[in-house]
Amino acid sequence: MSDYVIPPPEPKEIDEQNWLALRDLMERAVLRPVPFEGREQCNNCLYYLDPDAGISYCWHPQLRVLVGEQWWCQWWEAVPDE
Ligand code: SF4
Repeated sequence: MSDYVIPPPEPKEIDEQNWLALRDLMERAVLRPVPFEGREQCNNCLYYLDPDAGISYCWHPQLRVLVGEQWWCQWWEAVPDE
């Protein structure tokens, strides 16, 4: 039997790079995990791809990331009336 112990998982360099890039994006967007003034949030924003999903893709050109339905950012825009 081997004495080798599987090391616990830990973040790699790529994870640090990803975190720095995403944190910069988060700060530029003023991205928040809660609605703004109780009414503006991702799932009622023009850029939220699937309003019925709890997590969806934000296609705002400055973002293009996954976001949660109750998040908010400074680029929130109302869905125009049809
Ligand atoms: S633009 Fe902002 S508020 Fe709108 S879906 Fe993207 S992250 Fe959410």
